[in-house]
Amino acid sequence: MKALRKMKSGRGLSYESAAVPEIGPADVLVRVRAASICGTDLHIYGWDKWSQGRIKPPVTLGHEFCGVVERIGEDVAAVKPGDFVSAEMHVNCGHCHQCRLGEAHVCQNLHILGIDRDGAFAELVKIPAANIWKLDSSIPEHYAAILDPLGNAVHTVLAGPVAGRTVLVTGCGPIGLMAIAVARACGSSVIFATEVNEQRRAMAKKMGADVVVNPAEEDAVARILRETGGTGVDALLEMSGNVTAIHQGFAALRAGGRASLLGIPTEAVALDLVKDVIFKGATVQGIYGRRMYETWVQMTALLKAGRVNLEPLFGERVALSEFESAFAKLSGGHAGKILLYPNGMAG
Ligand code: NAD
Ligand code: ZN
Repeated sequence: MKALRKMKSGRGLSYESAAVPEIGPADVLVRVRAASICGTDLHIYGWDKWSQGRIKPPVTLGHEFCGVVERIGEDVAAVKPGDFVSAEMHVNCGHCHQCRLGEAHVCQNLHILGIDRDGAFAELVKIPAANIWKLDSSIPEHYAAILDPLGNAVHTVLAGPVAGRTVLVTGCGPIGLMAIAVARACGSSVIFATEVNEQRRAMAKKMGADVVVNPAEEDAVARILRETGGTGVDALLEMSGNVTAIHQGFAALRAGGRASLLGIPTEAVALDLVKDVIFKGATVQGIYGRRMYETWVQMTALLKAGRVNLEPLFGERVALSEFESAFAKLSGGHAGKILLYPNGMAG
């Protein structure tokens, strides 16, 4: 089969022949219908410091996808060949302290398919049956291909109360944009968003943000405080990883509010704990991945109800072999998800 792989240390990826994965008794082999490129894939392509420490070539990338079950191991009962599926690509161990507490998203022995093991930028991908998510037929294929980042957004938005509450999304990359749509669907009263990229600010409006601020041109904190009668927002959903955005987010958070931090800063960030957290009585949460499998249940319910409109997010669709143009476009900071088709575009 063909796959998009990191074959050696250094920049770039190669579209290569690879062996069809051999499955064990508790595995599922999935024929990939559509896969989507994540910011992490761009980092691995560019071979940044994080990738150099984490990625062990050769490995097939790709952790956002949907497909059809091709074959199942003899112990698998939950799905059968022909089922339309996606998967949680964070594979937990099932026996560490957190796994035993039902907190598998922060398992001590987590590995990620498409990062630590072969992933879904391939004609076929092997997934442990426990990680397979069988999809309702009402979920369209292009949405099914991006459940991984949508799950990040759902996990963040629903990590605290949102109905009737004001939220601030700092950073409108794909996940921030999805968070806007999810917050809208879940009854947020006023959605503020900050973003430095003009195209993405326009997308934020389309996704349902009420007030979109360019923090490079306007005092974002002053604007949000003004619009909330001096109170600040009930919830900060931090989705940029940018230190300025993080500081502004805390400054715009009301006393008693919650800060849910998903964005990953590249360096240590200093916080004024007294002003921003302690005297505010703020709740600060780190958000990692998706809760297994509460987030998947919530996400499916929202999609089935037709509540989350993600259409503005989707850009081009290309055959997997055309990956270079897709990676170049995304690296240029254009918002949107580009879908890759390892088994041809038709069907
Ligand atoms: P992205 O890099 O596409 O989006 C970040 C956005 O923040 C960009 O649009 C950028 O222009 C914007 N930004 C930069 N500086 C800003 C500022 N000062 N004010 C406002 N906006 C600013 O990333 P993404 O794919 O949407 O992911 C969002 C973040 O979440 C990234 O940091 C990513 O690494 C992280 N992430 C975390 C998890 C997790 O499990 N915690 C999972 C996936 C991604
Ligand atoms: Zn574990």
